[in-house]
Amino acid sequence: MIDPFGRHVTYLRVSVTDRCDFRCSYCMAEDMEFLPRRELLTLEELDRLCTAFIAKGVKKLRLTGGEPLVRKNIMHLVRALSRHLASGALEELTLTTNGSQLARHAAELAACGVRRINVSLDTLDARKFRDITRRGDLDGVMAGIDAAQAAGIAIKINAVALKGFNDAEIPAMLRWSHGRGMDFTLIETMPMGEIDADRTDQYLPLSAVRDQLSRAFTLTDIPLRTGGPARYVEVKETGGRLGFITPLTHNFCEGCNRVRLTCTGTLYMCLGQDDAADLRAPLRASESDEPLLAAIDEAIGRKPKGHDFVIDRATKRPAVARHMSVTGG
Ligand code: SAM
Repeated sequence: MIDPFGRHVTYLRVSVTDRCDFRCSYCMAEDMEFLPRRELLTLEELDRLCTAFIAKGVKKLRLTGGEPLVRKNIMHLVRALSRHLASGALEELTLTTNGSQLARHAAELAACGVRRINVSLDTLDARKFRDITRRGDLDGVMAGIDAAQAAGIAIKINAVALKGFNDAEIPAMLRWSHGRGMDFTLIETMPMGEIDADRTDQYLPLSAVRDQLSRAFTLTDIPLRTGGPARYVEVKETGGRLGFITPLTHNFCEGCNRVRLTCTGTLYMCLGQDDAADLRAPLRASESDEPLLAAIDEAIGRKPKGHDFVIDRATKRPAVARHMSVTGG
């Protein structure tokens, strides 16, 4: 799959549910309305869609959400998809999770060929964790991280940098992650969906965080690429890797290799644009994959050049109306 700007699309992110057991305040409103269950594609339909994308050249597949591990029987899908790892058609099957359900699934994920996962964690302080997630239990997430590491799964910790919330804690989180052999990546808040707070108050440009960290740590740019938009530095003092995902201070669209599928079969060709393609209708229209494959080609043919996220006092509306939980970041 090659888009109009010559970019090869080899990475599919699949949001398997819009539901989450947390309500992170920068991500969702407190009283989120989730889709009725009957709107969701079945796990078999998700498998068929993913398999079609793999046939079209997808090499890396990430399950996300909502919280992927709260989708009922999600391990059926993981088990089914692992056949593409075994055949060599797929190079990587991974997921992004809040870690809450990881303790009970880690061993089976590893057995299915999941080698690395991203765990989202914005603070190491249990009380602040409960505040930002509006309900989460930090001990449960820590047990999940322990279980994943015990199962041999490599972990990258992803933290959204939030002014006045975790900025002072970033050096400690960096030391903690690297001390446990985990990569650590910081993400800028993106203006997606109405939330109860003002994003201008939360937005922390990572250029400023990097300057701050440079006073305490020796940061050296490294060319590491993990298939995502993060730019990495090596931290001399810890020996670990620190990533920066900077959709606002540094647009990374020129290297974009991905598309995003929702749990209702809608394909978004860009995280920061509204244009989408419905794949559910062609999927259900025929037992043959022909209409589906044609719809995928048509969608890739209009993948936009990039997003134009802005967070400032003059721009009151989010860049896109949907929440991050629709497409899973
Ligand atoms: N529930 C899973 C998790 O917590 O990782 C997967 C879905 S969650 C939407 C994926 C990532 O998006 C998390 O790291 C979360 O912190 C991040 N995220 C959510 N809303 C965001 C926003 N407005 N700007 C930047 N990152 C956001």
